[in-house]
Amino acid sequence: MSETNLIANRWQTSLSGKTRHVINPAYNRPIREIADSDAADVDAAVRAAAQAFPRWSHASGRERAQLLHDAMSIFRSRYLEESARLLTQENGKPLSDSLKEVRYTADVIDFYADEARRITGTHFAGDMGSTHSFVFKQPLGVAAAILPWNFPVDLLAWKLGPGLAAGCTFVVKPSEEAPLSTIPFVQAFLDAGLPEGVINVVMGGGVTGAALVDHPGVAKIAFTGSVDTGVRIAQAAAKNMKRTTLELGGSAPCLVFADADLEAAVKGALRRCYSHTGQICISVNRIFVQAQIFEAFVERYAELASKLTIAADGLLEPDADMGPMINAAAVDKVRQHVEDAAARGGRVIVGGDAPRAEKYAGGGFFFAPTVIIDVTAEMRVMREETFGPVAPIASFVTAREAVEAANATPYGLAAYVYTRDLDTAFHCARSLRCGGVGINVNDITDIRGPFGGAGMSGIGRELGEPGIDSYLETKHVRLAYGSMP
Ligand code: NAD
Repeated sequence: MSETNLIANRWQTSLSGKTRHVINPAYNRPIREIADSDAADVDAAVRAAAQAFPRWSHASGRERAQLLHDAMSIFRSRYLEESARLLTQENGKPLSDSLKEVRYTADVIDFYADEARRITGTHFAGDMGSTHSFVFKQPLGVAAAILPWNFPVDLLAWKLGPGLAAGCTFVVKPSEEAPLSTIPFVQAFLDAGLPEGVINVVMGGGVTGAALVDHPGVAKIAFTGSVDTGVRIAQAAAKNMKRTTLELGGSAPCLVFADADLEAAVKGALRRCYSHTGQICISVNRIFVQAQIFEAFVERYAELASKLTIAADGLLEPDADMGPMINAAAVDKVRQHVEDAAARGGRVIVGGDAPRAEKYAGGGFFFAPTVIIDVTAEMRVMREETFGPVAPIASFVTAREAVEAANATPYGLAAYVYTRDLDTAFHCARSLRCGGVGINVNDITDIRGPFGGAGMSGIGRELGEPGIDSYLETKHVRLAYGSMP
């Protein structure tokens, strides 16, 4: 049952035989056991990846592209539904959201499969004497992919897609909270004929992740997760100057100006605040509304927030707006943030507690969509990543004031602006301190565009061209040649 580590193309238990449970957050009940890996498992996985590297990195871009495309057609036909159902069971999102995630996952791999054929270098005549310079782009080596639980399959594709296309081999460490949906996804690559050891998987928690980060055979760490873990990884990676891409937490502001399409702004902010129960790195965390439309915005937002549907079981209610939270600690944090806001004068006008209906009494980790007004800058909901279904709504008068308030956290992942005025849009886009700004749109993700954070939200970018560049080393080769014979 716990043969969930993949080393040299063989699914196996951890070498120590240790296991841990994966929990269904809708019921707080175990679904399945996975391997709990230690440093010996990590070492075996890194060795397998290192052994596979020379062959995989020397395969032509065309060969790598073909394999990735084949893997995704197998994934779509054989494993996509299974992966989506496991995703709902292990992380709680309603099935329609899980299906959306795994379909996008396959698109990301297909996109980077094509990019495998576009990796080129450059060359130029030397500046001094008879020399010519060549600039090569070469894969870094063994990459470690360390994942969070909230988009476990998609965010794995953001790493495997560009990394495999570039010619790197991998050791993957899924989140201990949501590792099961990644298994059928990885199996699709094996079914497509992936050479031995190109992708390896070690299951486990923070101890496993730390062993992987410390392993001298790992050249690059691609991590998505919390700021605290990201800081620890950056410190550990610096010891061997390992390359890192760190995609960390956020506290995205949403600025709604008086000239905006009010209905579009309300619906955009609402979906981005409560989708996946607010547990998305680019979730709307703080809403700032211009004073003239504040009341109208709050009234409509509260009306729609109180009508959102919460699936008690995302397999049985596949189209619900949201599901349970991931675990008890996540619910506790949300509760603390709401209580802190209330203690400092915030008014909870929707939600504020677990939903009350009988169907939520099965032991799962639920919290209702919540709206808070009369919020101030010192409240935790306005300073920290709540990572839950909470919308604090503040008002502002000038654009300058709104941008200052929006920038007043150490994070800087995403921001959203709703306005019909080009000057306002452009000034906000330039002065918001973050990696991505959505203008009249509530998602900053596009496969072709860079995704990543400023400030404490991380280092480096995934997706787009930087996504693949971060798996390549640049090498300058300078050649001297003699005089014409
Ligand atoms: P987490 O930091 O608790 O865990 C992430 C992964 O790191 C897990 O696989 C965990 O086992 C591993 N880990 C823990 N300690 C480690 C260590 N010392 N060394 C190496 N690995 C270690 O994060 P989480 O709770 O799984 O995910 C939620 C967080 O992820 C939120 O803060 C969210 O904003 C962030 N996130 C960011 C993005 C982004 O693209 N910026 C996307 C999704 C989620």
